[in-house]
Amino acid sequence: MFRMDDKGIVMNLIESRDYFRSALKNTYDTPAIDYYFKVLIQAFFKWEATIIGLQPRKILTKTELDQLMDAAKRLLASEPLQYITGSAHFCNLEFKVNPAVLIPRPETEELVEWIRETQLQTSKMTLLEVGTGSGCIAVSLGVYFPNAEIHALDIDTAAIEIAVTNADRHSAAINFHSCDFLTLSDWEFPLDRIVSNPPYISPEEKQEMQPNVMDYEPHRALFVPADNPLLFYRKILDFAQQHLKTEGELFFEINPKFLEAMRSLILSYKNYNIYERNDIFGKTRMMRLIKTV
Ligand code: GLN
Repeated sequence: MFRMDDKGIVMNLIESRDYFRSALKNTYDTPAIDYYFKVLIQAFFKWEATIIGLQPRKILTKTELDQLMDAAKRLLASEPLQYITGSAHFCNLEFKVNPAVLIPRPETEELVEWIRETQLQTSKMTLLEVGTGSGCIAVSLGVYFPNAEIHALDIDTAAIEIAVTNADRHSAAINFHSCDFLTLSDWEFPLDRIVSNPPYISPEEKQEMQPNVMDYEPHRALFVPADNPLLFYRKILDFAQQHLKTEGELFFEINPKFLEAMRSLILSYKNYNIYERNDIFGKTRMMRLIKTV
């Protein structure tokens, strides 16, 4: 099927797409494969998807072909496309990602949208994001609220590096702090808002999870101990007693499995009005808490 020259196999664009399809056909359906192919040629070679229709006989160089075949191998091993391209989309912005950070999720975009909708009238605020990872929440908020003073922290210095790159990429002025929130004792900025999508998956949920998540995404950003699954929320609520102003607000992404436990935890503090929101899948995934005293 393919021509050879002295450098090896020669393929044009349409042949390489067909080869890519056959390599992946036992693992993904054709629309998914074609989507991956388009995303990859855009990410690797900056070619628009229309090139497949416009220049189907364009010959690929050996390097181009090797890059695509290497990506096919990685996709076969369930590696997420976003780690292969190093890029993910979130709230209409492009973010750099690597295996040090979770790939931004559509549910989390909904959390950011909820914040945007409810805070439109807030001209100036000081906001902290706990566990920023790629920085997608903090940076999107920085773009939506250019007058806000935004702080974002993470325990992982490799994640902070990615988040800094993302903030620069979108000209968001974020103050990053590389620290362990669970042992954080001093904090000097009174806060109007705290936002977090902390680790919240308990170990017994592992068997329901897909290999693209289990084998590639950072476990430290996903899992919590079975005997203390709400540890991050508890610490945030304790921290908020001191550092969140009255009428300040907390926004959380939560695990729907712990909804009842979250409600009782929050009620035990006695000074919050609780609002909940479902994600696109109909699961209660978000909470907004308004501090009353
Ligand atoms: N929603 C993510 C997932 O299901 C988990 C994010 C988190 O643990 N905060 O993979």
